[in-house]
Amino acid sequence: MSVVKSLLDLLYPPRCPFCSRILAADDPGETRFPPVGGDAAGLQRILCRRCAGELPWIERSCPHCAFPLEGKENKCHRCSGRAFSFKECCALGRYSGEIREVLHRFKYRGRKSLAEPLGKLLYRKLSLAPWISSVEFLVPVPLSRQRLLQRGYNQAFLLAGVLGRELSLPVLEVLERVKETESQTGLNRSQRAENLVDAFKCRQEFPERSHVLLVDDVLTSGATAHEASRTLQESGAGRVSVAVLAR
Ligand SMILES: [Zn+2]
Ligand SMILES: [Zn+2]
Repeated sequence: MSVVKSLLDLLYPPRCPFCSRILAADDPGETRFPPVGGDAAGLQRILCRRCAGELPWIERSCPHCAFPLEGKENKCHRCSGRAFSFKECCALGRYSGEIREVLHRFKYRGRKSLAEPLGKLLYRKLSLAPWISSVEFLVPVPLSRQRLLQRGYNQAFLLAGVLGRELSLPVLEVLERVKETESQTGLNRSQRAENLVDAFKCRQEFPERSHVLLVDDVLTSGATAHEASRTLQESGAGRVSVAVLAR
């Protein structure tokens, strides 16, 4: 097995998912870590040293909506007064620069294999969340049927698959988009929220008070996660947390 793996590594050397640089096994020097858990050696097999140090990773953030907190800020100006139906959110990085670009490749350019490194990084970030140990089920945010046919895959489902494997938790594809809500562009925040009301249906009842982790690639206004989480709660979930790659 290791011979096959070495041969494959020689033919297709593992590359950094963000900048495509070949990941050198003996990459020397200090690595400034993104704020994620797990061992350093394992991290160097996922991304290069430069990206580990320089990408817009989220360090300190609002425990409720994951929006990054600047400097000495300890109150979030993004969600104050706007309570989302989910209890907390964990986000790996900012939705900008190379993180935004990698998400575009993952989502729109067919790069399904990016689910693996991105999912592993998100898992490492999640391992630091104090609430992760009580999560029982993973639920990916679904695409509409039309969008799924166009794209051929749901990136949130692929991501949830990697997280489910790492966390040893079941991934349940129980949410369905019952309303075409794809044309969110050009709408303001309250119109977006309005557009999403009753957009989801849940095919399964959850055991009472169960803790569900909703998985998506990105959280921007939060309207999608809010509505999906509300639907899960109507189906019995007691607590919904959210995990996204970017915020
Ligand atoms: Zn890189
Ligand atoms: Zn917030």
